[in-house]
Amino acid sequence: MTTFWKPRRWAVPFSLVVLLLCAGQAPLPEPVTDQETELGQAVYDQLRDKGEIIESSPLYDSLRPIAEAISRVARRRYNHPFKFFLVHETYPNAFATPGGNVYVVDSLLYFVKNTEQLAGTLCHEVSHTIHRDGMDRLKEQQRIERRELGIVLLLGPSLAQMLAIQMIGDLHSLAYSRDVESRADLTGSDICAASGYNPWGLVWLFEEFQNADSNQIPQLLSDHPANGVRVQTLEQHFRENPSVFSKFDSRPESATPLIVPKDAPERFLRP
Ligand SMILES: [Zn+2]
Repeated sequence: MTTFWKPRRWAVPFSLVVLLLCAGQAPLPEPVTDQETELGQAVYDQLRDKGEIIESSPLYDSLRPIAEAISRVARRRYNHPFKFFLVHETYPNAFATPGGNVYVVDSLLYFVKNTEQLAGTLCHEVSHTIHRDGMDRLKEQQRIERRELGIVLLLGPSLAQMLAIQMIGDLHSLAYSRDVESRADLTGSDICAASGYNPWGLVWLFEEFQNADSNQIPQLLSDHPANGVRVQTLEQHFRENPSVFSKFDSRPESATPLIVPKDAPERFLRP
């Protein structure tokens, strides 16, 4: 993903919040019982305030059946329901936040070549949520802050809001290590297989990236030199679990076309 913000930018807001909390000796906020929901909601609020969330569009008719099938499988592995939202951004992309929200950029539906590639992308994203990769990054940042400030930080509503701004930036950067990405690929392929979508879709997408102009590649999956390794890791996973994967056709020619209405009108959610 495009690096609009670097993770190190967390330092300033964290410090400010801690100073504000300490200066007035106000009681520290109660620890939030479900930080993932809190953060997910804060990200949602900010995307809505920026006018990015698409409230209604015929594109949802193309997205919904895939999203629902994936949700039915993925929700068994996560303690919140998954919800899918279309958003309008510059580059084809998809990203998931803690709490179960998954955002799909409208142009991704035109970018992918078939249903399996879209399903693979969405399965990969829900897997980041299932693995709590976003929360792990956040906690790592908090650990660094605590060390630097010698103080315990608690997540409260205002802090969640500030963290959400950072998280949106973070989600747009190539934030995760190759291991974390590969793990999401593998879990994603399991989820796709269980939802009835050919898990080779993700492999086909990576293979296309090898030949594509890097500016045209969805940033979420464009960990470029590693694409070959990610394909190999997926293929090995398929070989090692024939009872799950052998029934799926590895040939891109077997793909199901994705039917997407052209120039679909979009109405945006407004605050
Ligand atoms: Zn990823």
